[in-house]
Amino acid sequence: MKYALITGASRGLGKAVALRLAKDGFAVIINYQSNREAAEDTLKQVQEAGGFGELMPFDVSDPQAIEHALEAWQAAHPDDYISVLVNNAGIRKDNLMVFMQDEEWNKVLDTTLNGFFYITRRLLKDMMMHRNGRIINMASLSGIKGLPGQANYSAAKAALIGATKALAQEVAARKVTVNAIAPGFIATDMTKELNEAELKKLIPMGRFGKPEEVASLVSFLASDEASYITGQAISINGGLYT
Ligand code: NAP
Repeated sequence: MKYALITGASRGLGKAVALRLAKDGFAVIINYQSNREAAEDTLKQVQEAGGFGELMPFDVSDPQAIEHALEAWQAAHPDDYISVLVNNAGIRKDNLMVFMQDEEWNKVLDTTLNGFFYITRRLLKDMMMHRNGRIINMASLSGIKGLPGQANYSAAKAALIGATKALAQEVAARKVTVNAIAPGFIATDMTKELNEAELKKLIPMGRFGKPEEVASLVSFLASDEASYITGQAISINGGLYT
């Protein structure tokens, strides 16, 4: 069995990724922070489609909780390792910089950037030892272009892209690839209060993306077909930014 851990897989992009990777034949480890009901629904859908999955709740910004959860997983799976990691959990706390509170800045960086660091560092060793691994980081258009009102989020996502490029070079010889995905506007809980009618006028394709469209890209990057792609930040945004 090949295992894929997807952080923030109770809802939105992470859920679509979990369903897709399960369809691709991975046993999926569904991480979430607090929304157990939604995570259970993801698991139910995985199982109904004939796939394998399990829940693994932890806060990605809490290194002790991560260690605890992964140790317990390893004890239950002594002969296995996690070969695909999708660092997807993320939050927005938008505000103009002039009004931004420490908590808004720190929370966003803790979740996106520190979360990536804690989990990836923990799983890298096994991937390197087995000379096989895929790390896929959910960045954003905001991390490439910068978006006003999102200095915290843009900084976190841009840093995630920088770390992706650096780490890719560290582990390439061990056949571990590290890539980032930079979605534009995708229809999920995170974007549901945005003015879609106005924003979609800016998008050449004239619509928000679907979580399944992002999941297709994750599926490809996680596959053997993508073995020579590493250190990239791949945009998926309906032509919004090139
Ligand atoms: P979403 O619908 O708000 O879902 C967020 C997911 O992350 C949930 O599963 C949530 O778990 C989990 N999560 C949040 N904080 C966490 C933490 N500290 N520890 C563990 N899990 C945590 O968001 P989304 O739209 O699917 O976004 C997924 C990723 O794509 C994010 O990194 C986001 O920045 C990025 N992205 C999204 C868009 C977009 O347009 N939607 C565009 C560009 C990039 P609970 O259910 O337990 O709260």
